[in-house]
Amino acid sequence: MSNKEHLISQVPFPWQNAHWRRLDRLRLNNQLAHAYLIAGSAGLGLQLFAVKLAHLLLCVHPEAGRTCNECRQCRLIAKNQHPDLHRVRPEGTSRAVKVNQIREASEFLSMTSHAGGPKIVIIEQSHQMNPSAANALLKTLEEPNPDSYLLLVTESASAVMATIKSRCQRLQFETPRFEDSLEWLRKQLLDNEDEVKLLVAADNQPLTALELASSDAFEVRQSFIADLCGVLTGHCSIRQCATKAAKLGEHVSIGYLLNLSTLLVKSAITGASANNLEDSPVSRLIQALDQAGQNRKIQTEGLLSFYQSALAGRQQLAGSTNPNPQLIMESLLRQWARLPLGLRTRLGGGFGPDNKGESAQ
Ligand SMILES: [Zn+2]
Repeated sequence: MSNKEHLISQVPFPWQNAHWRRLDRLRLNNQLAHAYLIAGSAGLGLQLFAVKLAHLLLCVHPEAGRTCNECRQCRLIAKNQHPDLHRVRPEGTSRAVKVNQIREASEFLSMTSHAGGPKIVIIEQSHQMNPSAANALLKTLEEPNPDSYLLLVTESASAVMATIKSRCQRLQFETPRFEDSLEWLRKQLLDNEDEVKLLVAADNQPLTALELASSDAFEVRQSFIADLCGVLTGHCSIRQCATKAAKLGEHVSIGYLLNLSTLLVKSAITGASANNLEDSPVSRLIQALDQAGQNRKIQTEGLLSFYQSALAGRQQLAGSTNPNPQLIMESLLRQWARLPLGLRTRLGGGFGPDNKGESAQ
């Protein structure tokens, strides 16, 4: 069994159980909605959830909420060849879901089922639909074909058009408690990986942590985050940080900026120390934020306003107007460097590489 097969065999994950059970009850009573918006942070395995749900709907002999894994439909799904399941993913450099993809999906839904069962479309990253794609989807949502299901997956429900959201049932997935994620992760990584560190780096997103464990992304990410902390304290230049962002990909990097600012907002609001964090640039930063003597309201407002800019930056990147990722990133990093956190005057070293090059401001 490959890693991916092993992973999907575990769906629903513990943090998905409640939604799964409810959907299974609705399925048994023929009360499922025609369209679902499956929403929650990236790293909760929501795409796997959508695929497994489609699998459950297509299986001929499901039992107690589980697919039989033996019928012809199950075998076709295992081979990724089921003719009644269609998956839509963002395409090309703009990473947008485009109108022709939605038209294709709608046409697919309107055709007769091959297996005599339901027809299912999964739209991944559905917040990346450009406006014409979203408008095309509205028509399909307004005039559903019988026995057809649309599963829209998103890590950014706020970026999905309101008219689309209002026509879907929302399944909102919450991030599990740190201890629960850790317990799950420890079962996955039997070879004594440093699970706590991975989970902290993944902002408590269990599947992101698992991914970090199996790639060198962990080191690259750690070094980028150390640089981000360094930019705030004046120990790292914007140029150095922007270079690493380009290596990671600006889209991914903005995700880290969003995570880090969320973490700092929480800490600024509650004055909380870095409980779960081991000694790392982030934990030192949170401590420093707490001791900075800066007005917490000013810190929070600055961070929230930055968060909005980062969200807008990510939208811009996903847009269809050929954005320049490097420019967007640099502009965000300049704003990041100017955040009124009161960190620059107090801090000594220890925030990543002590870069004496270009000033951060
Ligand atoms: Zn089956």
